[in-house]
Amino acid sequence: MEIYPVKGTHDLYDEEANLYRSVEAHCIFLANLFNYQEIRTPIIEHTNLFVRGVGESSDIVNKEMYTFFDKGDRSITLRPELTAGIMRSIVTNKLYATNDLPLKYYYLGPCFRYERPQAGRYRQFSQFGVEAIGAPTYLQDAEVISLGYRILYMLGIQNVKVYINSLGDEESRKNYREALKKYFAKHIDKMCADCKRRYEVNPLRILDCKVEEDQQIIKNAPKMSDYLSTEAKMYLNNVVSLLKEIDIEVIQDDNLVRGLDYYTGVVFEYHVDKVEGLDNVGALGGGGHYANLLKEIGGPDLEGVGLAFGIERLAYVYSHTTKESFKYGPDLYVMGMSQEIIDKNFSLCELLRSNGFVVETNYEVRSMKSLLKTAVRKNAKFALIIGEDEVLKGQVTVKNLKSQEQTSIKLDDMVRVLTTMINEYRADEAQEGEF
Ligand code: AMP
Repeated sequence: MEIYPVKGTHDLYDEEANLYRSVEAHCIFLANLFNYQEIRTPIIEHTNLFVRGVGESSDIVNKEMYTFFDKGDRSITLRPELTAGIMRSIVTNKLYATNDLPLKYYYLGPCFRYERPQAGRYRQFSQFGVEAIGAPTYLQDAEVISLGYRILYMLGIQNVKVYINSLGDEESRKNYREALKKYFAKHIDKMCADCKRRYEVNPLRILDCKVEEDQQIIKNAPKMSDYLSTEAKMYLNNVVSLLKEIDIEVIQDDNLVRGLDYYTGVVFEYHVDKVEGLDNVGALGGGGHYANLLKEIGGPDLEGVGLAFGIERLAYVYSHTTKESFKYGPDLYVMGMSQEIIDKNFSLCELLRSNGFVVETNYEVRSMKSLLKTAVRKNAKFALIIGEDEVLKGQVTVKNLKSQEQTSIKLDDMVRVLTTMINEYRADEAQEGEF
């Protein structure tokens, strides 16, 4: 019986795994640059955390959660996102009890949503994100947006568009909700089932609907910007002009509401322009300000702002923008030509690794020709050939697998010479990469 992977999941190996690791390393590098510390929270949480945190009117809670009862009859959910779990952790561990707010955390890990799999949409995917809690100022919002932008910039992703909107304060949102209800009351009979549900629980969510016919109706709906209080407008303007100061142009989008209920105030999304040969995978990431989330799950009254990128989407776009090869190989492929030499090479490899070389070797006797082929397939930089002749002379033969040049070096001198050769090889490669 063949066992298939679960629908909407994917395996990562070889070059693709290296590509993902590189994307993650870029994200973490940037988060560190802004002095965000890592936080790791469990993949499973009590279901009510997400119901309260992410919100009952969201598609995530309504349709997409992987929820089950454990053996103790508790309702458990595989996290569909990480923010709610991080807020829970901040409350559980009283991380807020510090004089040095804001708390600044970054995270990386798998999420689970029961969605219809398609390009850029999986049932298990990974998110990288940051949360800054306790500095209720437009500076914090602008900093988080700029961090996300820098990540995309560092990944060489061009044509990035940052969309921004404000969902306003409670008063603005209440008025806007009423205006939407009034407007959609005339149309809701013709709209999709999801919109009918959204109309009852949270009419703002209707603006997020992707159904073509509904879009036509949404187009003429009242605009949030007409309902924003003066403070909310000023806050948004401050964020926009701070970003402008650092050359990040944002596009104001009245229909941007985001799919999670906890957002209040500024929300944003990162997109890339449609590029030839690239599937449209939707938003690369997004986030926003949340004034009440921590309080709602039992914490103090501290506001926060966060963003999340989907690693799969970043990796997909990055794989088209980067020239880097993710086929990593060893510095040295140590080739022993007899069983006796192979046994001796065991400690030689150890010595080379302790000097910082990435080393691979053969464990069984094979012909020189076949070993060289393996070395090339493994993408090794140099083959280190050790046959009877080399043993007698106390030396090794080094072959540059790119230029095919071959030299002999004395065992006593081996580490020093190899270090120089590898450094030169890397310098050449770096120079080639520049063109
Ligand atoms: P959200 O938590 O819905 O705001 O999503 C943040 C980011 O996570 C999105 O912009 C995507 O990059 C990514 N994402 C969300 N859902 C999925 C999914 N089902 N598959 C892959 N990536 C996803």
